Amino acid sequence: MPAPSATAPYDIAVVGAGPSGLTAGLLFASYGFSTVIIAPKVNLSDGRTTALLQASVDLLTQIGVWDRLVLKAAPLAKMRMVDDTGRLVRAPEVTFDSLELDLPAFGYNLLNKDLNLILEKAALEQDNLTFLNQSAANYDAKDEATTITMGDGSTCQARLVVAADGRKSLAREAAGIDVKRWSYPQMAVVLNLNHDQPHRDTSTEFHTPTGPFTLVPLPGRTSSLVCVVTHEEAERLKDMGKAELALEFEQRAHSILGKFELNSEPQMFPLSGMIARALVGQRVALIGEAAHVFPPIGAQGLNLGLRDVAGLGKVLKAAKDKNNDIGSAEVLGAYEKERRTDITTRTVAVDALNRSLLTDFLPVQIARSAGIYFADKIPPLRRVLMREGIAPGTRSKRKSLLSRVTRRLG
Ligand SMILES: Cc1cc2nc3c(=O)[nH]c(=O)nc-3n(C[C@H](O)[C@H](O)[C@H](O)COP(=O)(O)OP(=O)(O)OC[C@H]3O[C@@H](n4cnc5c(N)ncnc54)[C@H](O)[C@@H]3O)c2cc1C
Repeated sequence: MPAPSATAPYDIAVVGAGPSGLTAGLLFASYGFSTVIIAPKVNLSDGRTTALLQASVDLLTQIGVWDRLVLKAAPLAKMRMVDDTGRLVRAPEVTFDSLELDLPAFGYNLLNKDLNLILEKAALEQDNLTFLNQSAANYDAKDEATTITMGDGSTCQARLVVAADGRKSLAREAAGIDVKRWSYPQMAVVLNLNHDQPHRDTSTEFHTPTGPFTLVPLPGRTSSLVCVVTHEEAERLKDMGKAELALEFEQRAHSILGKFELNSEPQMFPLSGMIARALVGQRVALIGEAAHVFPPIGAQGLNLGLRDVAGLGKVLKAAKDKNNDIGSAEVLGAYEKERRTDITTRTVAVDALNRSLLTDFLPVQIARSAGIYFADKIPPLRRVLMREGIAPGTRSKRKSLLSRVTRRLG
């Protein structure tokens, strides 16, 4: 039998309980909005890990979950990039140290299942927040509010729908928002492993001719691995036994962490990208993978999704303080303006980095190597890149740092 339908509209219905949706629900409820999260069961078996950068840590601290998450996470104090392309023009090895920014770490890496579990628990404890274990099946947007029909036929209303329902977002489709999609000739092989030698809180990214091979610290002598290869190579790796695969990856890592032992099943993800042509529609705002999908390079995807959450929260709180309608075109337009540049810039940067590794075109290889060389040798540029990597700064801060770099280069 369908659950009874709510009569009074919620302020906000967040559809989807991935990390973006759960964080959004917690933030909006903490601002005093009556909030409902609509989603089927939270995924507590995701074997992947997420490297959360400083801006994400700040948001998770604000919503009161960071002290629980940090107990499950490993700090990323140093980030090392190694050109392992074997090409004629190679970049020098570069190590970025968070102490150069007076930070203990650039970010923290933890298992997605721990992240989701802790966020779900906090959401169940949060005032102003209701959890409906349902799939949203239909949306009817009207001038005052949107009616959402659930899989069991029950309905609820909200003044604003926040679409956090992932890359195949039904909420986005129902709002008529078009997307641009593309794919890459690569597959990410993802797993976690134990190793002999300590990682010393350092993540290492080998740039190979088929894409990055990245080891990211987890607590203890454990790391997560994202190995980007061709589809054919992924098929070959899939057929290997665990011991054989561990040896293969240890060799690819040049044994920098000693002997490897797999501690999770390998998962395969085809590399693709997607960007929504608008972030808003009638009484709906898109966040996380409903708005943008990245290849797993440079730890950008969820970090960008959490910046959507913070950006939307800021706009909604300002509207609330002025007694404005949070689902109005004006308020949603402010969200689009707040987030569009960051999303577009990251999409272009990750795409360019990935394609620069794949190309055999010498001028591109030289440009990439020179970029990494200057990043190593020019301290202000290093700091701009490090800061931009973990939390995009204000335009004025970025401008003044860039002008210092330009002066130095000139
Ligand atoms: C191999 C790999 C490694 C990655 N590593 C990193 C990293 O280190 N750092 C980083 O920042 N990012 C990383 N990412 C990206 C990151 O995993 C994603 O950005 C993130 O998981 C997206 O979260 P989300 O909440 O937006 O979407 P999802 O996690 O996809 O959640 C969508 C939710 O919507 C629900 N849903 C779907 N349809 C409906 C419906 N009709 N009604 C109700 N609910 C619905 C689903 O059940 C789910 O709960 C990685 C990605 C990959 C593939």
